[in-house]
Amino acid sequence: MAEKPDLPPLREVIARHGLSASKALGQNFLLDEQQLDRIAAIAGDLGGAAVYEVGPGPGGLTRALLRAGAHVWAVERDRRCVPALAELAEAFPEKLKIIEGDAMKLDAGGEIGRSFHIVANLPYNVGTTLFTRWLSATDWPPDWLSLTLMFQKEVAERIVAKPGSAAYGRLSVLSQWRSSAVLAMKVHRSAFTPPPKVMSAIVHIRPEEQPGGVEVGMIEQLTAAAFGKRRKMLRQSLKGTSGAVEALTKAGIDPQRRAETVTIDEWVNLARALRS
Ligand code: SAM
Repeated sequence: MAEKPDLPPLREVIARHGLSASKALGQNFLLDEQQLDRIAAIAGDLGGAAVYEVGPGPGGLTRALLRAGAHVWAVERDRRCVPALAELAEAFPEKLKIIEGDAMKLDAGGEIGRSFHIVANLPYNVGTTLFTRWLSATDWPPDWLSLTLMFQKEVAERIVAKPGSAAYGRLSVLSQWRSSAVLAMKVHRSAFTPPPKVMSAIVHIRPEEQPGGVEVGMIEQLTAAAFGKRRKMLRQSLKGTSGAVEALTKAGIDPQRRAETVTIDEWVNLARALRS
């Protein structure tokens, strides 16, 4: 059973450390402990697990992860948050490692040295860049066991979108061709302090087996070209990709179709046909 020390309310921690939310750092804090526990639970059973948390801020989600029994490596760019996080590290001895730095410049695997879950409530621009980086790992399965990430609701919907929907695009294919992706929870803007302009949602991703004979670079190249011109027929949008039109036929995909109708399995078959 994980230790559950008594902690001061998050509002008190924020006031005592003068952590007024910085717009430049995309700071919108979650303070409702019950909701934070629900988010941590989405990552699965974290007892004894290693978790890489990006952007802990005053440590709301970090507390929930620690309460769930995780060992947390938390990387935060805002040094004002470090003393508040250090208090949390004292309350959970040997369970929390605080890394002051920019997550865009760090290699989580190098920091942690074993398989880990990634959990983050990040500013949306940083979140999407890191997300695509984690999904584009050349080695598969990657060194992360799962991703539990907060996104703007529309981005979360794009990640889990199915063919034929307006939200289906590059991000959907990248997220689903060798992973499972679910929209696990919606979070109302009023849950944050201060509230952002948009609604949010949490996406949970787990790596699956990578289909044979396909490389991530090929999936990225094909979907970039095809969804870059999503209103055009594939034979048109893939014109610049050498061999693509022949590969469409070989993969049994009508070149007159549009990118948004192509299923994940068909993207995989197309990438395979192009490779051979
Ligand atoms: N996890 C806290 C919560 O849920 O209340 C804070 C979330 S707030 C939306 C995003 C946090 O990410 C802020 O604390 C911000 O300082 C931090 N952050 C922003 N850019 C970052 C970066 N490049 N690397 C690490 N942390 C970053």
